[in-house]
Amino acid sequence: MNNFGYTRASDVADAVRQMAGDPAAKFIAGGTNLIDLMKENVARPSRLIDITHLPLDKTEQSRDGGLRIGALVPNSDLAYHPQIAARYPLLASAILAGASQQLRNMASTGGNLLQRTRCCYFYDTTTPCNKREPGSGCSAIGGINRMHAILGTSEHCIATHPSDMCVALAALEARVLATGKSGERSIAFADFHRLPGDTPQVDSNLRADEIITAIELPPKGFAENYTYLKVRDRQSYAFALVSVAVGLDIEDGTIKEARLALGGVAPKPWRDREAEAQLEGARPTRENFLLAAETVLRDAHGFGHNDFKIELARRCIQRALAQAAHGTPQSQADKRIR
Ligand SMILES: Cc1cc2nc3c(=O)[nH]c(=O)nc-3n(C[C@H](O)[C@H](O)[C@H](O)COP(=O)(O)OP(=O)(O)OC[C@H]3O[C@@H](n4cnc5c(N)ncnc54)[C@H](O)[C@@H]3O)c2cc1C
Ligand code: SF4
Repeated sequence: MNNFGYTRASDVADAVRQMAGDPAAKFIAGGTNLIDLMKENVARPSRLIDITHLPLDKTEQSRDGGLRIGALVPNSDLAYHPQIAARYPLLASAILAGASQQLRNMASTGGNLLQRTRCCYFYDTTTPCNKREPGSGCSAIGGINRMHAILGTSEHCIATHPSDMCVALAALEARVLATGKSGERSIAFADFHRLPGDTPQVDSNLRADEIITAIELPPKGFAENYTYLKVRDRQSYAFALVSVAVGLDIEDGTIKEARLALGGVAPKPWRDREAEAQLEGARPTRENFLLAAETVLRDAHGFGHNDFKIELARRCIQRALAQAAHGTPQSQADKRIR
């Protein structure tokens, strides 16, 4: 472990001021990802700016009837919050499908968005990795890439974004509130994470001096017809091979509105508006679900070990849509939150 400084931010303005004054510093919240990266010598911050004492730990009603979730709300508190369980069970279900209870107790909402990829080469400092060391090459292309992406990749990086929570937030059209030197701004969830292109080292569009203060959920939560389906190597404590978040609004046997986002298949939560538009106005049938899956996967390609993900994703999309349409959500967690 490298030497690093430690300071505590007294308020949001102080956090921004401290970060602007030391661009090699990092905010620390739950520490469940950052400390691991520091131990592996992947992250080498000059200083940790502890934000855990900032007043960002509330989940409150927002003016438009949605919810505002503070960046420091622990993942477990969020999953079991009565408003989330009742109005946004898709989000609760996705959170409870991730990590372990102990980790969820520590992990924060803001930190979950900025957790880094689980690509094994990213963690292995003896191997080339463009995300860790720009310009060094990508060991996963032509290497062991069973967990890697089939959509949104570039010749520089094929890593996936590991979060479950973010897949549900993408489907729900959440917004990210951030504060920096130039004030507060609100970022649409679809614009928050980045595809690798030729800058795979940059995961998000958050500016260097900005702190995430909250996530905003719109009023509509798709609480009747939803599913978070996660397929993984073990039933718990494993990252997704493929996951699918679905929210449907069905009226008189026709899909009025559809939301569909995938995890485990791309460098960011993968939402496909063309597939959603195709479902809207259609009947919730097996054939229409298959057409939507084909649309989502039209540009998918594998890298050898992960070729199986294309067929797996096709089946998961169909199954998740069918479960949502029938009002039979997937996760064991749903039994606890309903
Ligand atoms: C063994 C293991 C298994 C896991 N399995 C899963 C899984 O299945 N699914 C899943 O989704 N996740 C999983 N996780 C990841 C876990 O959810 C994340 O580590 C956690 O959400 C990160 O939150 P944190 O508060 O601990 O972040 P930290 O580690 O404190 O920070 C992570 C990053 O976010 C930055 N940051 C934190 N808060 C802010 C803020 N408010 N503003 C700006 N920057 C900020 C930090 O500087 C750092 O770069 C797993 C983790 C482990 C260790
Ligand atoms: S896939 Fe991305 S994170 Fe993994 S080795 Fe290649 S560049 Fe690094």
